[in-house]
Amino acid sequence: MLYHSTRNNALTANSTEAVIRGIADDGGLYMLPDFSAIRFDWRRLLSLSAKEMSAAVLHALLDDFSVEEVKGMVSRAYDGRFDTEELTPTKRVGDRFVCELWHGPTAAFKDVALSVLPQLLVGARRKIGSKKETLILTATSGDTGKAALAGFADVEGIKIMVFYPKDGVSAVQQAQMVTQEGNNVCVCAVQGNFDDAQTAVKNTFAAYREQPLETVELSSANSINIGRLAPQIMYYFKAYADLCKSGDITEGETVNFAVPTGNFGNILAGYLARCMGLPIGRLICASNANNVLTDFLKTGCYDKRRTFYQTVSPSMDILVSSNLERLLYLLSDGDAPLVADYMKQLNETGCYTVNDSLLHRIQSVFSAGFCDDAQTMETIRRVYETDGYLCDTHTAVALSVTDRLALGGKTVVLSTASPYKFPVAVLKALGELVQGDDFAAMERLHEKTGVPVPKGLCNLQNKPVLHHDCIRKEDLTDYVFEKARKQTWIE
Ligand SMILES: *Cc1c(COP(=O)(O)O)cnc(C)c1O
Repeated sequence: MLYHSTRNNALTANSTEAVIRGIADDGGLYMLPDFSAIRFDWRRLLSLSAKEMSAAVLHALLDDFSVEEVKGMVSRAYDGRFDTEELTPTKRVGDRFVCELWHGPTAAFKDVALSVLPQLLVGARRKIGSKKETLILTATSGDTGKAALAGFADVEGIKIMVFYPKDGVSAVQQAQMVTQEGNNVCVCAVQGNFDDAQTAVKNTFAAYREQPLETVELSSANSINIGRLAPQIMYYFKAYADLCKSGDITEGETVNFAVPTGNFGNILAGYLARCMGLPIGRLICASNANNVLTDFLKTGCYDKRRTFYQTVSPSMDILVSSNLERLLYLLSDGDAPLVADYMKQLNETGCYTVNDSLLHRIQSVFSAGFCDDAQTMETIRRVYETDGYLCDTHTAVALSVTDRLALGGKTVVLSTASPYKFPVAVLKALGELVQGDDFAAMERLHEKTGVPVPKGLCNLQNKPVLHHDCIRKEDLTDYVFEKARKQTWIE
C-alpha cells in the first residue's frame, strides 16, 4: 500500500516512510489515493475493546506494521496512561451523545494521537535500521506541547524539546509543561509570542538541513503526520459501538458526528472512518468566530484573508486548516494537480474556490456552523443547567452548532477537552465572578459542580518545577545545537 503526496501522485511513500517524513518533499500531505479501497470489516470491530479497535485501524492504514506490532504500540501508548479502559467513553447528554476524548494524561484530545505517534516513530525507525537519535522539536501555543511531552517522555531513542512563548500560555499550561518528568525531555520558554517561537523553531530546521549532525536527526510531532491522524479514527468506531451496545441505535443505522474543528484533523479522521464503512450520516464541522471553514463548506471559497479572533476556545483559533487538503484530494478522486493548484493559490493570493462538482461532493457529507464567544458561554450554562453536563469551551461550540442545526437522527458530539483545562471561562459561563488565577478557578469549579478534576491537572501548582530555561528567540538555534552536540537534555 502506497501513500501519495496530495500534490503529486508520483511522490509516494510506504507507511514507514510516511511516518518518518511527516510531510512530502513538495509540501503535500501523505494520503492513500483511494481510501475506500481499503478492505475493512467494520462490523467485526464493534465487539472489540477500544485498544483492539485502535490496533485494527492502525494496521489497516499503516500496513508495514504487523498486527502484533501495533498491538504492542497501542498497549505501550495507553496502558496506565488513560484513566479509563474505555479510552473515549460516550455519555448521553439530553437528546444527544457526547464522546469524551480527554481521558489521557493532559486532559485534551491530542493525547489520543500523541500517545501513539512516538510508538509509530520508534517502530518506523527500527524498520529502516536508523542508528541516529531522533530529536523532536516543537513550538507550542499550549496544548500540543504538553501532550507531546507526555507522549514522548522516556521513549527510547527519542528526545524532545518544547518551546513555549513566555507570556503566551495559561498558568495551568505552563505548570503542566515545566513540571514534566522524564530523562529525555527539555522545556524552554522563549521571550516573545507563539509566532516568534514557531519561526525560531522553523529556522532551526532550516539550519539543520544545511548542517546536519552525525548522531541526531530532527523531527516534528506535527499534526499533519499520518501517524497522528490514524490513531484518531478509532473513537468514531468506539462511539458507534457504544450506541449499539446501549440499544440507542441498531447496527447499520447512521449516526451524525459533530466536531469542534481547528486544523481539520479530528473531523477528517471521521471522514476516513466513514470511508472504511462506518455508517456515519453527516459530519458537522463546528467553528468559533474564526469561521473560515463554515464559509468554505457553504460556498466552496476558502479565504484566509480575514480578521483573526482570539476566542475562549483557543485551540480552534486557526485560519489555515492544513488537513483540509487531504479531503480535497480524496473527494477529487486523487486529482493531485488540482489540489496543488488550490494550495498554490492559497499561498499566493490567500484564497481559492473549488469547482462545483467537488463542492457538491463535500456538501453531500459535511454540514457546518459556527458560534461566537457569547453563544459558547451560553451553551456551557444551558447544557449544565438543563442536562447536568459540564463541558469545556471547545465542546460547547460543537454543542451549540449541533443544537441550532437540528439535523434529526442521532448525533455524537466529540468533546475535545476537560472543562478543567479552561476553568476561568467555564466558571464565568456558569455565572461566577472569577477571583485569582486558573488554579483558584479550578478549585472553585470543583466545589461548585462536584465534577472530579482529571488526575493530570490535580496538584499541579505543588509539583516541583524541573525546567527553568528562558531564552531569546535569536538564541534558539544555538540552544538546540549545543544540547544536541553535548547530548544533554536536562540540567
Ligand atoms: C486541537 C484541538 C481542537 C481542534 O482539532 P483539529 O484536529 O485541529 O481540528 C479542538 N479542541 C481542542 C481542545 C484541541 O486541543
